[in-house]
This record gives sequence, C-alpha cells and structure tokens, in this order.
Amino acid sequence: MIPVEEAQRILKETPVFPATEEVPCGDCLGRVLAEDIFSTLDMPPFNKAAMDGYAIHSEDSSKKFKIVETIPAGYRPQKEIRFGECAKIMTGGMVPRGANRVVKREVTVEQEGWMKIVGEDPNPNLCFQGEDLRQGDLVLSRGTLIRPQEVAVLASMGLERVKVYCRPQVGILATGSELVPPGKPRSEEQIYDSNSFSLAAQVRQLGVVVKKLSRVADDQDLLRFELAELLSISDVLLISGGVSAGDYDYVPTILQELGVKIHFHKLAIKPGKPTAFGTKGEKVIFGVPGNPVSTFVIFELFIKPFLWRMMGHDYRPLLLPGELTQELTRKKAAREAWVPVRYQEGKVFPLPYHGSAHIHALTQANGLISFPRGEKIIRQGTQVVVRPI
Ligand code: AMP
Ligand code: MG
Repeated sequence: MIPVEEAQRILKETPVFPATEEVPCGDCLGRVLAEDIFSTLDMPPFNKAAMDGYAIHSEDSSKKFKIVETIPAGYRPQKEIRFGECAKIMTGGMVPRGANRVVKREVTVEQEGWMKIVGEDPNPNLCFQGEDLRQGDLVLSRGTLIRPQEVAVLASMGLERVKVYCRPQVGILATGSELVPPGKPRSEEQIYDSNSFSLAAQVRQLGVVVKKLSRVADDQDLLRFELAELLSISDVLLISGGVSAGDYDYVPTILQELGVKIHFHKLAIKPGKPTAFGTKGEKVIFGVPGNPVSTFVIFELFIKPFLWRMMGHDYRPLLLPGELTQELTRKKAAREAWVPVRYQEGKVFPLPYHGSAHIHALTQANGLISFPRGEKIIRQGTQVVVRPI
C-alpha cells in the first residue's frame, strides 16, 4: 500500500505524448491550447465610442456644437472635429480625429444640426485603442482550457483556426460475473452494471470520446481476450472491478501477462484501496475497484487529472473552503479518506454515507472532503476544503 502522494508522484512522472491538431475557432470549446496566442491587434483596435452620443474635444467649452457628420459602428469618420463642432456617434463607432470624449445622448439636445449639452456627464465614454491589449501581448498560454470566454478572445483576434491538443482514445471495461446491463432482466444474485456508465460519463465530461465500452465476466480467457482487444485500440484503458484480493480478481495478473507494467497496486486511500496503475509503451491503464463510489472517487482524484495532462492541461480543481457543520469521525485512520458532502454558502454539510457501495449518497453531494491519514475526527466548526464534484 503506497501513500496517495507517492501515487500522485508516479502519475506525474509518467510521460505523456499529446499530439496536436488544428481546429476551427468555432469548434475549440473544451479543448486545450497547444500554442501561445499573441494578440494580432490592439484591443480595441481604434478609439471607440462606449456610448451613443456626440464626439467632441474635452477642452472645448462651446455653448453649442455643429454636427459635422454621423458615425455609425463600422463607419470610417471623414471629418476632423474642431472646437465648436461634434460628430454624432453610436456605440462602437470610431472616434474621429480631434475628439477625445463622447457626451452621452441623455444629457444633450439636438436641434437643426446643432447639439447642446444640458446635463452633467463627467465620463469620457471612450474605449482607448489598446487599453485592453497591445498587439503582440501574450493573451492565452499554451495549456489553457478553452472556455466560452477564451473562444471569444480567440475569435476577437481574428483567428480562424487554433492549434489544440488531441484527445486520447479511451476504452472502458467493467468486469464481474454478477453484472447485467441496464434493460436486461436481472436474476436475484445479479446487479446492474453502473460503473461502465459512470466512468463513461466522467470521461465524456472532459469532452473525451469513449472508443469502446465492454463488460466481461470474471473468466480468465474472456478477460484476456477483451483486455487485449481494448489495449490494442485505446490510449487509456479504464477497468472497473477485479483488482482486489478475491479468488476471481484476475485483472492485475492478466494485465501483466499482456505486457503491462504495473507501477502501483494498492493505495492508502478510502475508498479505492485496490487501485492499480500500469503502462504498456505509451498506453496507460487504470484498474479501479468495483464499488461504485470507489470507481467514481478514484476517477475524480487520479484519472481526471491524468487525462487532462494527456491533453496538455494542468488540471487544478477549484477548492472551496467551508465550515464543517457537524463532527465527522472514523474508527481507523491508516488511509486518507474521502467522504461526500453538501457545500452551500460557505457551510459544509456531511451526508448520510454507508461506504463505497453507497452511490446514491453522491447524488445528494456536490463535493468531497478528506480525512488526512492519521486523523480520526474532524470537529464541528473546522474549516475544511471541499473539492466540488
Ligand atoms: P470488485 O472490485 O470486483 O471486487 O467489486 C467490488 C464490489 O463492486 C462488488 O460488490 C461488485 O458487485 C461491485 N461492482 C463491481 N463492478 C460493478 C459495476 N460495474 N457496477 C456496479 N457495481 C459493481
Ligand atoms: Mg468483481
């Protein structure tokens, strides 16, 4: 059994080989940038009216101003503004030469080609060229996960295509002779397979496509055949069940037979102790214990950051500090333990939780908190850190 930090170190030191591809700017949501993006222009690219109004010079104290032209957004001003003159301008319009202030429409009156200021408006109402970004500035770094706001910035740079990291091919295998797929009749001693679905859902939440999803009984030949097939077509193989110490837990042995090098097997964590990690060439394999909460939690804590790293992104979960509303205790403290909680407005509410088979508890939860190794009690009122799920 190795400590969690040791497992994390091993995972971090496992080399990854992310390839890159170019995608249209409109398709890059959820991808990871594989290049630094430098601003292709000043932002805004010209002095721009921030309000509908009249462009004048700030030192011009004329009683009234002659309107020399009207400037809609997208129009190039033809006239230079002199004292006693103004241009009627719309939001987004290019401020003409000679003007450095836009008097908003609401404090003016317009009559027969002249404008008069009749109220107070201390703001210049102008976005100055380059005030947000200068041409050549670094705007987004390689490794950035592209959210809608990054999509906006990339488009505003005029970029038609961007270079992003490719996503890995993921295979999923649920093992267990007791498993029945949803939709099929179940006899009394059987259970429905939920892990292949939860794992696939967790993978898809990262935007990654599941290449193949299989289910196999605890039969050595069937397992060997299916593992070999999945290994041949996947960059990442996620296996649920069959990694513990039971008579029919064949997964680690067969993986080794198939040439997989096991880097760790058994972690000081609860749930998820029997977790195994191995590699075969550039391929990586995670074996997670079959109890549904174990599968879920191990994915969150270890597999998700690893998949992101394979896509060139250094995943840092948001960590929310909050006050524990109720004491939490446990009997043994040899392992780091993770429990589901509900986080709301700075308060952390523990939930009824019966252990790693109790997947329904996670539907009530929006976060996980941890008992560090060696600690048996977390007192009410303690500031804990919630990892959202
Ligand atoms: P294992 O890790 O194979 O020893 O399984 C541990 C527990 O998880 C057993 O109670 C299994 O029945 C259950 N289990 C294994 N695989 C799944 C699955 N795919 N979906 C739901 N429960 C599972
Ligand atoms: Mg099993």
